Amino acid sequence: MTNPLILLFFLLGMIFGSFFNVVGLRAPQKRSFASDRSICPHCKNQLSWYELIPILSYLFQLGKCRHCRSAISIMYPVIELITGLLFAFSYIKLGFQVELVTALLLMSLLVIIFVTDMKYMLIPNNVLLFFLPLLIFTRIINPLDPWWSSITGALSGMVIIAIIILASRGGMGGGDMKLFGILGIVLGFDKTLLTLFLSCVLGAVVGLVLLLTKVIDRKQAVPFGPYIVTAAVVAYFYGESLLGWYFNHFS
Ligand SMILES: [Zn+2]
Repeated sequence: MTNPLILLFFLLGMIFGSFFNVVGLRAPQKRSFASDRSICPHCKNQLSWYELIPILSYLFQLGKCRHCRSAISIMYPVIELITGLLFAFSYIKLGFQVELVTALLLMSLLVIIFVTDMKYMLIPNNVLLFFLPLLIFTRIINPLDPWWSSITGALSGMVIIAIIILASRGGMGGGDMKLFGILGIVLGFDKTLLTLFLSCVLGAVVGLVLLLTKVIDRKQAVPFGPYIVTAAVVAYFYGESLLGWYFNHFS
């Protein structure tokens, strides 16, 4: 590791990731995530500081509650690790520039939505409304080129999802539409459409694999948020190269 700041962003990301787990689990229930302490969901035992260290607590406790020995969800350390990697990667790709703030806000929003959609199959308004003004603000400070790509991106994303909602009756929901509004502002027109395309491809491929391996059955509803989240990360960091490659080969 050549730059110690990469490690710093990784550690920072893991600490935030541990907080995003709590936010993601509590936001849909409208519970506060600042005032009450973290507890074991099984025995309600209050967790001490050394049980809240990202990843390490999980490893040292061998994935079990210290008190009642019931299993702790693998989601916790996975989310912490993913957030750490996304924060470090944002810094590696962007370095210290204004866009790094946008990137870290976007990664935070996406991780929280990943948690809420996996756990509750919903994308809560309070999370979207927290990030919306912050991301609009950073896009005003550091606009896309051209700046109105944020507006066409938000509008096209929301209109396309609205059409999908009307056509599919239940495949996607209002939360997905609002999320695409925010993604449009951050990513702009091209990368928003790319996100939509990638999330549908990813959803179809993963869905087919889950059906064939009988992890899910045909009637089971699957949250679409995780596909949007993954596609948005890819489009944000690699959108230019992917779109450039596409237009070189197919036009
Ligand atoms: Zn317990």
